Amino acid sequence: MDYFPIFCQLKDKPCLLVGGGEIAERKARLLMEAGASVSVIAPSFTGQFMQWHAEHKLSCITGVFTADHLSGKWLVIAATDSEQVNQQVFQSATEKQIFCNVVDSPEQASFIMPSVIDRSPIVVAISSGGKAPVLARILREKIEQQLPNYLGVLAQLAGTLREQIKQRFSSMNARRYFWEQFFADKSLQSEIEAQRSDGIEQRISALLSENQQPQGSVVLVGAGPGDAGLMTIKGLQQCQQADVVVYDRLVSDEVMGLVRRDAQRIYVGKQAGFHCVPQDEINQILIKEATAGKRVVRLKGGDPFIFGRGSEELEALIEHHIPFSVIPGITAASGCATYAGIPLTHRDYAQSVRFITGHGKGLNEAEWQCIAQKNQTLVFYMGLSKAQYIQQMLLSQNMCATMPIAIIEKGTLATQKVVVGQLRQLTEMAETMESPALIIVGEVVKLNEKLQWFQSKSAK
Ligand code: SAH
Repeated sequence: MDYFPIFCQLKDKPCLLVGGGEIAERKARLLMEAGASVSVIAPSFTGQFMQWHAEHKLSCITGVFTADHLSGKWLVIAATDSEQVNQQVFQSATEKQIFCNVVDSPEQASFIMPSVIDRSPIVVAISSGGKAPVLARILREKIEQQLPNYLGVLAQLAGTLREQIKQRFSSMNARRYFWEQFFADKSLQSEIEAQRSDGIEQRISALLSENQQPQGSVVLVGAGPGDAGLMTIKGLQQCQQADVVVYDRLVSDEVMGLVRRDAQRIYVGKQAGFHCVPQDEINQILIKEATAGKRVVRLKGGDPFIFGRGSEELEALIEHHIPFSVIPGITAASGCATYAGIPLTHRDYAQSVRFITGHGKGLNEAEWQCIAQKNQTLVFYMGLSKAQYIQQMLLSQNMCATMPIAIIEKGTLATQKVVVGQLRQLTEMAETMESPALIIVGEVVKLNEKLQWFQSKSAK
């Protein structure tokens, strides 16, 4: 960071502006908006400056800058059209250790002025450190569009309510919960936009009575296969509001990086050499945290309803009358196949796709017969350690030994690894791969040669 961003309290503080032209006018306006006590020194002034002077908004001193003008000043801006004068101002200010901005010359300044979006008391400042002012402006425009006009009033209101809310809600959680409801409340926003003070008051009273006690809940969120960008917007919003996040092994570090920083994180996955936390214990954690009034996010890899035991956790919540909701995620089959350039269906090769678990209850002969049918794609989850068995069963149902297959390890992550071969090589291929990995069997796999697009770091 080349510049340290701070917001200065300039109210009634003496500040000096050197220059009386149009560029200086812009700086004067900003200083006045911040409530500074502005003196302007210049040999001559624009009409605007003269008017401000007459209105006592600032004070114009006709003359040439000398170091004496710096005495008692907190901040200086050099905005003349003479580089030499600007430099002299900067040097004198630096000697006296007064922060000085030089217009259009960031390399010569001890502070620079950012691009500002003013929704006071909300102020957003953007700077490119003088390297790319146009980019800073583009960003400013983008952010400006995102910030509604009522934001300032909303923040102002929040300021006046702060003490009252502190008295009303003793726990920090309850206060945070109230503020989140307050800032998200659409009715309050429309009352502010319509400038109806009665309506605003009524809405605030309603919010206060509605939010006495935050009710705990659980949201089952699908985190997707690994790449954090693949999580849904709803999932992300939940992760950023959660009090507690219960997660397991398949949730990537990247995704955990998006969780609210202050949220409590409870890991229930497998530790090296140990087993996972038993399902019943996970259920108990969810029940305990939600009953304590917390907003719990149960974060699961992929989609919680695809080989995720999500429904078992929900049944436990239902028994305890705990409110819940579910946000789907991109399942490994979809994410990994896409990042490996393998379409799961294709008009010529596969009219259907099957998601099959390599674990759990075994499949019978008749089921394997269906699985080995032509014109479909098979996706085996948790199949790595059962690769040999899967291979035998498919071959015993007369699936062609040259059927294309792929194994995708850590799909969608930068460390993704993809190997492609034929059914006859499945066992050996599986031995070179690590968990989590997905096995895809079907003609569609051969499209990978043409369609692969994702360059993982470990690409072969
Ligand atoms: N609910 C998850 C699946 C859980 S079962 C989902 O919808 O994706 C766990 C299995 O999913 C793993 O054994 C592996 O086969 C597969 N899997 C999950 N994430 C994966 C990834 N990033 N790469 C490869 N396979 C993955």
